Amino acid sequence: MLTNIMTEGECSLLHSLIGNAETIVLCCHQNADGDAIGSLLGMAEVVRMLGKEPLMVVPDQYPDFLHWLPNTEKVVRYDKRKDYVDMVLKIADLLICLDFNQLSRTDQLAPALEASPAKKVLIDHHLQPDVPADLMVSRPKASSTCELVFRIAWQMGLFEQLSRHFAIPIYCGMMTDTGGFTFNSNEPDIFYIVSQLLTKHIDKDKIYRNVYHNYSENRLRMVGHVLCNCLYVDEERHAAYYVLRREDQQRFHFVKGDAEGLVNMPLQIKGLKLSISLREDTERANTIWVSLRSVDQFPCNEVAAQFFNGGGHLNASGGKVLGTMDEAIETVKKAFLAFEDKLK
Ligand code: 5GP
Ligand code: MN
Repeated sequence: MLTNIMTEGECSLLHSLIGNAETIVLCCHQNADGDAIGSLLGMAEVVRMLGKEPLMVVPDQYPDFLHWLPNTEKVVRYDKRKDYVDMVLKIADLLICLDFNQLSRTDQLAPALEASPAKKVLIDHHLQPDVPADLMVSRPKASSTCELVFRIAWQMGLFEQLSRHFAIPIYCGMMTDTGGFTFNSNEPDIFYIVSQLLTKHIDKDKIYRNVYHNYSENRLRMVGHVLCNCLYVDEERHAAYYVLRREDQQRFHFVKGDAEGLVNMPLQIKGLKLSISLREDTERANTIWVSLRSVDQFPCNEVAAQFFNGGGHLNASGGKVLGTMDEAIETVKKAFLAFEDKLK
């Protein structure tokens, strides 16, 4: 049996917030990943089960390998339909924020979220939540926000009635946030939840293929190019970084999502503890997106916070450099030096 993640008071508050609301908006962070989209779609099913049709909003484009998920056609992009979303947020009664800990993680959507008179619920698993909310289900120990949405549905007594349209996105988000259950997934409850999801007749093998075997030929060749020509390994410090320049992205017809998983690959080198990806934005000048991954107890979120204006989880973090690629590389080198002792 699963332990409850909400107090009874929180659970009945959530019931009444949804029950009393007419206009409900669900949203997630920019550059949505499997967990963000999965929790958005899964929570929408919960809301529907309670008789309401929510508006699902993402700040911007999200990867093609998530578009097969059921109901994604109902997801509205803020960068494409700003006026409509602004209008709905102005009259919304309830806003449910999924998979982010700071409003700034929703980028251009943040001001409209902040200004909305709606009551706010936060469901998230990042450290240090800083979103003003009437109900905060922030559980940094959870593997994913999708796990939290499952537990919420379970605790509200709704799971039995929910369909595959709930189980598929929830499984997808749990799978992607744990790298196919290869990290951050030793908690036995995770597999109890997976076993329950399987009772909804989802094809987990197909979900895996839909997500991980859904790339273009160009993407595979780009990975080969980056690993061969653009990866720099600091053997002494057990750390590596690679650069993904704009011209290389153009050469391999880069589309959003093509860098997914790449930053984990250098960690396949024996003994490596930290991997950093530097990707030049294809449109904005002087913007380098930084992804960090680490193993064991090495805190890549500390590196992200100290050097890259970012943060995240112990083993998976992100941030950015507002400067040139050369400046970003210098910053990486400084970070390797500063964390030399912890990398040993
Ligand atoms: P990714 O490398 O997949 O973009 O990000 C990995 C994780 O790092 C995300 O799940 C998120 O928790 C965190 N992260 C990414 N970018 C930022 C950022 O700019 N600020 C903070 N605080 N966390 C970030
Ligand atoms: Mn997540």
